Amino acid sequence: MNTLSDTPPVLRFAPSPNGLLHLGHAYSALITEHWAKKIGGQWLLRIEDIDMERSKPEFVEAIFDDLSWLGLSWPEPVLFQSKRFDIYKSAAQKLRTMGLLYPCFCSRKEIKANARDETDPDGAPVYPGTCKHLPKDQISQHLQQNKPVQYRLNMEKAVAKTGMLTFTTAQPAPMDRPKINYARPARWGDVVIQRKGTPTSYHLSVVVDDAEQNITHITRGRDLQTATDIHVLLQFLLGLNTPVYTFHKLILDKETAKLSKSKGSTSLQSLRQTGWTAQTVRTHLGF
Ligand code: GLU
Repeated sequence: MNTLSDTPPVLRFAPSPNGLLHLGHAYSALITEHWAKKIGGQWLLRIEDIDMERSKPEFVEAIFDDLSWLGLSWPEPVLFQSKRFDIYKSAAQKLRTMGLLYPCFCSRKEIKANARDETDPDGAPVYPGTCKHLPKDQISQHLQQNKPVQYRLNMEKAVAKTGMLTFTTAQPAPMDRPKINYARPARWGDVVIQRKGTPTSYHLSVVVDDAEQNITHITRGRDLQTATDIHVLLQFLLGLNTPVYTFHKLILDKETAKLSKSKGSTSLQSLRQTGWTAQTVRTHLGF
């Protein structure tokens, strides 16, 4: 598939407002800005707020504040994923029409109980396929009883449709050194495309929006490198372009654990309160 090399470079920083930004986010935002400048492109800000329980308006405000404090600016309007559920629904519908989605009524507990010995690249059990061949009447019965439902991708069928897929990775400094990589989506099993109570998932929304915003280059942490397999697959199935990817290093805390909002890693806000300046952050991160 075309990698958009003929269109002006557009990058994005796409945080989820479910906590305060920390140094890892600052690094990701700064490397995005750095690469955008280097290749004569622009970068966009996208708020990935599909998780209505964890996303909070105060965290959205904090994202704007922290990024501005870092000296970053971005074009308006900012895209909010929470305003685009209908669009994700249509994309899911496209996959459904291709016969690639099936309803799954399993709870986490059931999945764990039936799990085989296989784990996905994130270490979670690969979905054992319990609901893959549910008879139609059983599906209708569960739906009528309002049993919580999520929709999974039939990975076997999907992969059979696409054949072998590749994507390009490149390094911002020194620029380029492009490398062709094989996507290996099958190792993820039947991933969730529409979550319980949400007409989408991270994988679906990110792919739809990267295309919508004509993103040509994606800068994201190495922790999302393997998930890119799924994104490349969805791009192919939905007829969307595949951007060039850069997977940047992760900023680790003292215990060499990945920084994470949920673990309460030191936020940019609290660093600021203890006297860090934007320049301290930039220097600390090597910019
Ligand atoms: N929203 C994702 C996060 O905050 C990152 C999105 C991406 O780079 O694909 O982890």
